[in-house]
Amino acid sequence: MLRGLNMDRQLLVSSLIEYAGRNHSSTDVIATDSSGAVHRSNWSEIRLRAHRVSSALVQEGISEGDRVATIAWNDHRHLEVYYGVTGLGSVLHTINPRLREQQIVWIMKHANDQIVFVDPDFLPLAESIASDVPSVRKWVVLSDELTDSSLPNAVTYEDWIDGHSVATEWPILDEWCAATLCYTSGTTGDPKGVMQSHRSIVLQTWATCTGDGHDVNSSQSILLAVPMFHVNGWAIPFAAAMSGAKLVLPGPDLSAEALVRQIQDERITFSAGVPTIWLSIVQYLKDTGGDVPSLQRIAVGGSAAPRSLMDTLEDDYGVFVSHIWGMTEMTQGSAGRFTHRVTELDREQKRRRQAMAGRELYGVELRLVDGDGEDVARDGSSPGELLARGPWVAGAYFELDDDTTHMTDENGVWLRTGDVATMDAEGYISIVDRAKDVIKSGGEWISSIELENAAVGAPGLAEAAAVGLPHDRWGERPLLLVVLEPGAEFNRDEILETIKPHVASWWLPDAVVAVEEIPHTGTGKINKKLLREEFAGFEWPQ
Ligand code: AMP
Repeated sequence: MLRGLNMDRQLLVSSLIEYAGRNHSSTDVIATDSSGAVHRSNWSEIRLRAHRVSSALVQEGISEGDRVATIAWNDHRHLEVYYGVTGLGSVLHTINPRLREQQIVWIMKHANDQIVFVDPDFLPLAESIASDVPSVRKWVVLSDELTDSSLPNAVTYEDWIDGHSVATEWPILDEWCAATLCYTSGTTGDPKGVMQSHRSIVLQTWATCTGDGHDVNSSQSILLAVPMFHVNGWAIPFAAAMSGAKLVLPGPDLSAEALVRQIQDERITFSAGVPTIWLSIVQYLKDTGGDVPSLQRIAVGGSAAPRSLMDTLEDDYGVFVSHIWGMTEMTQGSAGRFTHRVTELDREQKRRRQAMAGRELYGVELRLVDGDGEDVARDGSSPGELLARGPWVAGAYFELDDDTTHMTDENGVWLRTGDVATMDAEGYISIVDRAKDVIKSGGEWISSIELENAAVGAPGLAEAAAVGLPHDRWGERPLLLVVLEPGAEFNRDEILETIKPHVASWWLPDAVVAVEEIPHTGTGKINKKLLREEFAGFEWPQ
């Protein structure tokens, strides 16, 4: 091999905050903390305080590879911890506080967390689990004063970093060093730990900043409506530093009113979040007659975004919706901006593509296979399991020996995403279902997601969940569970009539049942495993 003659510089997360602190020092980082106070900071200050965090961690005896956890909302202190922990070479383990307590204890033990940064809001949770996680030597409360707490070895963040040096140098790590650890909330089995290296974070952040990614650049003002405990906030805390963008961190209040106020006050140009957030924002804007003139684009993903969201946001508010697909195992897995040929597309063609879940973002290769591992046609209608590979796709899970999570063939090793999708000739994917949630009737597949999306158009329906239950003749048939809006009457025929135009006739649910509530997982997804268990003995109507 004739080796290239470039410099040997490692791709490290610390280079992102150093870049932002040096070149975009006065660019705003604005945060609302858990007390509701607004804190105005900038990239220079975030960098300096991240160094303090790092120095305080060293004093605690934390070193390369040790896991340091956070249970926190999106604010400036959490951002400083992001960089302080990774900069040192220790591993940032972001914990989703919406998981069940038992699950949190399980993942903290599995991760062997040494120090935990916890928001005052989550003190009751920390107090309740502290005795179950003996590996934790210190709880650092993300505030400047400590309220009465029974938490052992607790200290306030501001006291803890006070007096620590800002002039430390980040160590030159190997770029393959682990930087972050985030557990998937899987509805089956134990959670699985996805460990991203420094190299992987820097590469995926670069991809996120590209034009067909989120086109993040220094002229943007970004509102991060994705929790930083969910898939590293979709890499946006890193992308904002890499590009020197203004960053607004909303804290615990993710209500439409609070988010719209920040979009207006901080002249937000780009934001990202799950469909529920945007649906509630659209409703709030409609109810109040408000507007968001500065907002140019949003990225939406995490679950399927309905087409009506794109129509309303773009037609009524001039906001382009970039619909993306991704997962903890790779962060952003598809690009939804389709800047290519966009001017040649009419409104309908554009919207049809937007309603799909994007296409390959450079760096993540996508492929569809059938049950035998054979490639499925890219015809926009044949479903298959979605496989992914790339330099920032998880190649294995943390301390888990399971050879079913990946598929190996003559094409190499691919992550089995567990999503069933279709792909068209241009590479646009549509997520049909989670493989375990797809309803298998008479050997054919019914998409539970499509049934649900069609059902929620029925008057008086607040939410719907479709699950496959055993059926003597067909193997499985769909049962639709619905939650009614307050005061609405249950009308089975009306619900079925609403679904009919959108799906094949044999997809129509065999039964519809009204329930008080539909259970959700810690990441807000419908918990279909629980529903299947609950309705296991269901008797189909004759
Ligand atoms: P998580 O790892 O918690 O982010 O969950 C990842 C899963 O969310 C994926 O495997 C999909 O099942 C689902 N998901 C993400 N983006 C989309 C999307 N645009 N449309 C449908 N499902 C999605």
